[in-house]
Amino acid sequence: MAETSGRFGVHGGQYIPETLMNAVIELEKAYDFYKNDPDFNRELTELFNEYAGRPSRLYYAEKLTKALGGAKIYLKREDLNHTGSHKINNVLGQALLAKKMGKTRLIAETGAGQHGVATATAAALLNMECVVFMGKEDTERQALNVYRMRLLGAEVIPVTTGTATLKDAVSEAMREWTARIDDTHYCLGSVMGPHPFPTIVRDFQAVISREIKSQMLEKEGRFPDAVIACVGGGSNAMGSFYHFIGDESVRLIGCEAAGRGIDTFETAATINTGRLGIFHGMKSYFCQDKYGQIAPVYSISAGLDYPGIGPEHAHLHDIGRAEYVPVTDEEAVEAFEFLSKTEGIIPAIESAHAVAHAMKIAPQMDKNQIIVITVSGRGDKDCAAIARYRGEDIHE
Ligand SMILES: *Cc1c(COP(=O)(O)O)cnc(C)c1O
Repeated sequence: MAETSGRFGVHGGQYIPETLMNAVIELEKAYDFYKNDPDFNRELTELFNEYAGRPSRLYYAEKLTKALGGAKIYLKREDLNHTGSHKINNVLGQALLAKKMGKTRLIAETGAGQHGVATATAAALLNMECVVFMGKEDTERQALNVYRMRLLGAEVIPVTTGTATLKDAVSEAMREWTARIDDTHYCLGSVMGPHPFPTIVRDFQAVISREIKSQMLEKEGRFPDAVIACVGGGSNAMGSFYHFIGDESVRLIGCEAAGRGIDTFETAATINTGRLGIFHGMKSYFCQDKYGQIAPVYSISAGLDYPGIGPEHAHLHDIGRAEYVPVTDEEAVEAFEFLSKTEGIIPAIESAHAVAHAMKIAPQMDKNQIIVITVSGRGDKDCAAIARYRGEDIHE
């Protein structure tokens, strides 16, 4: 079972302790049923539309297009969703699924706090208990998000094991799930972890490419030439790519956080610098040291500094269907500032990695070619950090 379930080429699988098998089997069975259940899908669509504000706009960025002087650029505005990013798509889906399964309690891991806030939001809406595991380091760096989660009614548990950051929070959440499967669902935040999570999270995020496809046909009567998205664990990128995988004319480009550069140790570019390994229940590519231990990763963007990548991305890379390019802190910060000035849209620093790559390739493309950039989130949360990067100390 563990050797065949949920594979993407050699990647994926279920590398988990026996004690967690019951939980993932129960989840897989429930998901297989509810994904085809008309009532479930009707309720989820209603939450997406009425609560999250979907469909998100596909916006023609005319000024950005003219400034770069090449391909026509559209922005998929996930930043306009309730709570300010694509994360709400996944948490609404998983919270509703958990509710249908009779669970009353959601647990989640969080790094910068974005997924924790989204999960706490869905729990508040659906009347569920919520516990969020967060590295102690991160609770101190992201005090505002800790406040937000508590305001929304969640309990935040600081994790002190290991490096007291995101990867330790994931491990702790998995341990807690093992101990309390009866009433608890683990709401995992990206297209990673053991099967069925990479598939479940992808399917809930696939609303992004489903909408891009129909909006593009309506506006241009054809598909784009390239879809560009940033990649942390890979959920907004997978959601943006999914319905285009079969359309070979559409280039799929994932932008990894190179941090200070892929030739330095201060990077989080998993495909560009990592190796095949097994961690957090899955086989995929991971940043590792020379002993095969998970390496500390760095990026200016807290949402992209995960040492692994979802197994389906690892497979799309292996078969050459998607490209994964590194983007440095400096390039992302320039794109953050450029999009703000040209379009009046402040992107999340994560999303700015995708904008940065578009700024490189658009000028080399033809005027009748089309690029879609997924703006995974809004950048209000990043302003103080970017100001600091530029040498200006502003108080939040
Ligand atoms: C969390 C986050 C990301 C990274 O997560 P993925 O799973 O790779 O999408 C990217 N952008 C924003 C705005 C985020 O909050």
